[in-house]
Amino acid sequence: MDDAITEQGPLPSDGMGHPTAKPPVGEADVAAGLAEVRAAIVRAAEDSDRDPAEIHLVAVSKTVPAEGILPALEAGQRVFGENYVQESAAKWPALRARYPDVELHLVGPLQSNKAREAVSLFDVIHSLDRLSLAAALAKEIARSGRAPKLLIQVNTGAEPQKGGVLPDQLATLLAECRDTHGLAIHGLMCIPPAEDPPSAHFALLARLARQHNLPILSMGMSADFPAAIQLGATHVRVGTAIFGARTRKA
Ligand SMILES: *Cc1c(COP(=O)(O)O)cnc(C)c1O
Repeated sequence: MDDAITEQGPLPSDGMGHPTAKPPVGEADVAAGLAEVRAAIVRAAEDSDRDPAEIHLVAVSKTVPAEGILPALEAGQRVFGENYVQESAAKWPALRARYPDVELHLVGPLQSNKAREAVSLFDVIHSLDRLSLAAALAKEIARSGRAPKLLIQVNTGAEPQKGGVLPDQLATLLAECRDTHGLAIHGLMCIPPAEDPPSAHFALLARLARQHNLPILSMGMSADFPAAIQLGATHVRVGTAIFGARTRKA
């Protein structure tokens, strides 16, 4: 995974690409950031003649402690994204005890040896990108009877350091997930290269999803979610614009 993306997101933005003057930090700011992002989602949906209700906001709370997540829960947000299995296992069981209707998404890369914990914790996994991981997930799903929705991450920029299957290998991975492992795949996810304009990547992901009849399109982050919505995103993954700039992990 690209460190520039996981650890140093862009500045909070007003949703139109302009950084806001001040990153949200306190409790009131989280609620305000969330309200701004929700409003920007509605605007982007309306601009492209889409129903805002078909666009789901995944609030990415990686590195945010439980106290920082509470204001978002209190403001009614229920769908959250995390990058790290260990961090999620430490934070979410207690929060879920208070808010049982939380839906938890894994948006970061997953190691096969964490498949058991991931299947037990998450409702949606966005980062399936290889056959060995599909095998590990299938085994845990069969064992536990719990079946998170699965999205395949596509490395649309063919970046060597980034997770995701290459676009020209997607059809093979999809067929193997279904035929070899009996896994239902619900959609696709991408993280465009930081230095590229993202729209071409969003358009490519949308085209691949249409080709394979996959309903979920997970694309768009703080800096570019309005563009992703215009190109068909059903799930936008927004962290910084809600919770403020992340401090670099030690
Ligand atoms: C951190 C992260 C996000 C959120 O990024 P922001 O720029 O903070 O909105 C979204 N998706 C993935 C995969 C991430 O790692």
